[in-house]
Amino acid sequence: MRYTSKTVEKLTELYHQINLLSATNALLEWDLNVNLPPKGSAARAEQTAQLTGLITDRWQDKEFKSLLETAKSEKKLTDEEQAIVRNLERSSRYYYNVPKSIIVEFSKTTSEGFMAWNRAKQENDFSIFSPHLSKIVKLSQDIAEHLGYKDNPYDALLDLYEPDLTTNECKKMFTPLVKELKVLLKNIQNSKYYSEHSTLSGNDFYYSVKRQKQLSEYVLTKMGYDLAAGRLDISPHPFTIGFGTQDVRITTRYNRHDFRESLMASIHEGGHALYEQGVDEAYDGTPLSGGVSLGIHESQSRFWENQIGRSISFVEFMTPVYQSFFPEHLKHTDTDELVRFINHVTPSLNRVESDEVTYNMHIALRFEIEEQMINNKVKIKDLPEIWRQKMKSYLGIVPKTDSQGILQDVHWSYGSIGYFPTYTLGNLYSAQFTDTLRNEIDIDSNIKNGELGTILGWYRENVHKHGSRYLPNQLCTKVSGRVLSSKYLIDYLKSKYKTIYKL
Ligand code: MG
Repeated sequence: MRYTSKTVEKLTELYHQINLLSATNALLEWDLNVNLPPKGSAARAEQTAQLTGLITDRWQDKEFKSLLETAKSEKKLTDEEQAIVRNLERSSRYYYNVPKSIIVEFSKTTSEGFMAWNRAKQENDFSIFSPHLSKIVKLSQDIAEHLGYKDNPYDALLDLYEPDLTTNECKKMFTPLVKELKVLLKNIQNSKYYSEHSTLSGNDFYYSVKRQKQLSEYVLTKMGYDLAAGRLDISPHPFTIGFGTQDVRITTRYNRHDFRESLMASIHEGGHALYEQGVDEAYDGTPLSGGVSLGIHESQSRFWENQIGRSISFVEFMTPVYQSFFPEHLKHTDTDELVRFINHVTPSLNRVESDEVTYNMHIALRFEIEEQMINNKVKIKDLPEIWRQKMKSYLGIVPKTDSQGILQDVHWSYGSIGYFPTYTLGNLYSAQFTDTLRNEIDIDSNIKNGELGTILGWYRENVHKHGSRYLPNQLCTKVSGRVLSSKYLIDYLKSKYKTIYKL
């Protein structure tokens, strides 16, 4: 990268050290999820807390702080330099406003919280996790107070994941969306093609894990995921983690009775990974590296998962491939059945495996609970029951166990409160970007031929390569010419499911 300002160049140099420490911390997090033996959790919590302390020291370093002050008042910066200063200013707010003792305590609490959540989920016992969750909520409230907010402490947390996102914005996003989706779900349930259970999965089916892994690798390679700059592992909750453009790892999980679970998780995480691998290499280690926000990140994962992986054209291309991987179960099936299998719509207990129509209702529910937790409108011990009530009202079903209910997601154990709404944002961005993409490229004929390179190329050029150079709203306007709207997602879902369920 070319610098015109000595100050910004020096700042970026110092930031590179923060970036290296953060990458090391992220590697410990990857290991925690993929490899760590249960007894190693206490030592790991200490290691991570130590590194977090070092990272905080770097942010709070006097020289760094004064360079950042100087840079903020410099007039003749290039666009990239301005973006660097903006990003550093945004990230540093956390370190300048939240006391180091809270940052380190939060790190330790969430490491322990993760292990407790894991055990609580396995043993279906919320009481194992609830004291940890109480601590995490209390610390999150403290963090929100230190960060500051205008209307709602939850806003301060939302902003950590999606710049400038607020509770009010979320309400504006969810209200029309949920209304339309409830109608669409009703229409689908009334269709004669609707069935509560899907074919091709269940106890009578046995999909070998080895084959499923090979299938994931096949699709990931087709997508353009560079396995020499990444790897695929197993974790209870699939995720992507990147350390620059040359090491971007993903995980998935396998269900022997349903190959969709690992396949869709791999495609989803692969979408995140393509974004990280596609950032301009010159940005590696700088404040412009990596995806700009979780919402934009999720637009990439959801694009590959839904607009590609679940598209009729892709299933058409993949039909013989699926049949060759699992001939014992799929040799007599056809594209129509596979399309309905892969796009099977029905209210389900699990967010990660839910279909496109009901998915955002799972998010709306979590958004409401988070907002209530942060504002002390609910007691932690009542959460399992609140979860059941909300599931009933949104989806008409109730989980029998807390493992399938309140304990289902890992996020709160990580301390990621304010994260969930970015999933719905991602769906909205994805639909809006793809609307533009469709106007420029005949994507269906590409997909039908298994030709995904042109599509990846479009995203590389329009989204990936920019890394964190543009804020989400700037990027949205740059890519689609418009500010974000829920119209595109609603139109896309209505039109797709009209075809599949012959509405
Ligand atoms: Mg994701």
